[in-house]
Amino acid sequence: MKTLCEYDLKQIRLIEKRLDLFKNNKLDLFDLVGELGGLLNAIESVPDSWMDEFRTEINTLEMIHDCIEDGSISKWSGDFKEGLRKSIAKLKILSSGIIEEYLKISDPNILESAIEANVTYNCRVCGLDQGFDPWGEDGQTPTFDICDCCGVQFGYQDCNVLYVKKFREEWLGNGAKWFFSKDEPQNWSLEAQMKSIPEEYK
Ligand SMILES: [Zn+2]
Repeated sequence: MKTLCEYDLKQIRLIEKRLDLFKNNKLDLFDLVGELGGLLNAIESVPDSWMDEFRTEINTLEMIHDCIEDGSISKWSGDFKEGLRKSIAKLKILSSGIIEEYLKISDPNILESAIEANVTYNCRVCGLDQGFDPWGEDGQTPTFDICDCCGVQFGYQDCNVLYVKKFREEWLGNGAKWFFSKDEPQNWSLEAQMKSIPEEYK
């Protein structure tokens, strides 16, 4: 088996994140299908059989979505919610399976950089895991999205350490409130989350 290139490993990690976001109701089915398709197309070093299995599940999700949209979901054979749940579970198994497979045979450094890649999903100000790279895959192309937690706009108030520290100080000074208060998890721990702030911005 070829070694999964680092880029693909990262893409698959992004796929896992998207699946989690969907499970937590932070991404709708339409966006999930679109984004998984896009991420999948960019992957090069996976076996064709894996790719086919993955595509089949995405197609199922897409069909379910289309049937919901055009009102024909009542004709879906069986419980569509169950079908949805199964497809998502299968996609999760496929993604984590391939990561494990490859890490068994590849350089442990790749594991390390994949973990590093994970860290870049976290807000520079408050450490919240965004489920995507707030600064783009190359770390140079910010999304200009707003952090649900501290309210920083990626690419604007977090573009250097000084800005980050200033923004964080103000946010903490104002009581560290969630910008989108409805997204605040129960039992949220500021302290625990702040441990995930990327090292260079602490
Ligand atoms: Zn934040």
